[in-house]
Amino acid sequence: MDLADVGSPEALVRLILQAEPDLPIPVPIEDLCRQLDIAAIQDLETDGFEGGLITDAERSAGIILVKNTMEVRRRFTIAHELGHFLMPSHVPDQAGRFLCKSSDLRRTSAREGDRRERMEVEANRFASLILMPAPALRQAMRGCTEPSLQHIPTLARQFNVSREAMARTYAHYHDEPIAIVVTHDGKVLRHYKKLSFPFVTCRNNAPVPAGSLYHRGPHERGIASDFAVCLPENWIEVRRGERAPVLYEQVYPQREGFGLLLLHLELPDEEEEAEDREMEESWRVGFKAKRR
Ligand SMILES: [Zn+2]
Repeated sequence: MDLADVGSPEALVRLILQAEPDLPIPVPIEDLCRQLDIAAIQDLETDGFEGGLITDAERSAGIILVKNTMEVRRRFTIAHELGHFLMPSHVPDQAGRFLCKSSDLRRTSAREGDRRERMEVEANRFASLILMPAPALRQAMRGCTEPSLQHIPTLARQFNVSREAMARTYAHYHDEPIAIVVTHDGKVLRHYKKLSFPFVTCRNNAPVPAGSLYHRGPHERGIASDFAVCLPENWIEVRRGERAPVLYEQVYPQREGFGLLLLHLELPDEEEEAEDREMEESWRVGFKAKRR
């Protein structure tokens, strides 16, 4: 496989999938590493770090270091380090050695001009794409036309990734305009959304909005709730004079105070809107006619 010229995680994963069209699900990430010149995967014992990579400038071979933790986290870290190894533009701070913290492994955006943050985001994109390859994911999501958090644990098990990694990918791939919010003890930790979903106004670490279904319990742990309509203003900006979209919420409490919250937007139907306007016009005309 000639991977020397790839510039993006997407192009890199495409090449790997072309060479390995029958890659099983869950992806055997350690076998794949060995095929791609990773000589060994060893335990990382440096405190404060989740993963690492030892390699040379030519990238002729590499050793991946990974903290001995839950399998799904290990798999993501290994895939992330493989991304650093395969991306020619990834150059470590310290010659021949990458070390990544858990905050690096969660990074989804980089500040402009910050090379290090950009590398971490790219390694995460690579890890997501290789562990949840688009063709297999599309197939697995065939029965998920109506979005629901109930799908997340099943899909996460199928691909052997964490629920949060699956939630992030699910939010991006789903056809409907959705966002998935990760909550902890009444606070919003972060959210993942589809590009077509509007800007989420609730900041990270802020309390879950008071009007949210989240506060209308009791919600049973491990069970995705029914959907409920909520005021869109709780989560998104609604401009005055514009017809507000309908926003649905679903909550899914997890272990240790963590939870997922799904926001599903129903955009106003353009045809319906045109009908409304026509109706409005006809009334106005009617009133004028009467007055005369
Ligand atoms: Zn990294």
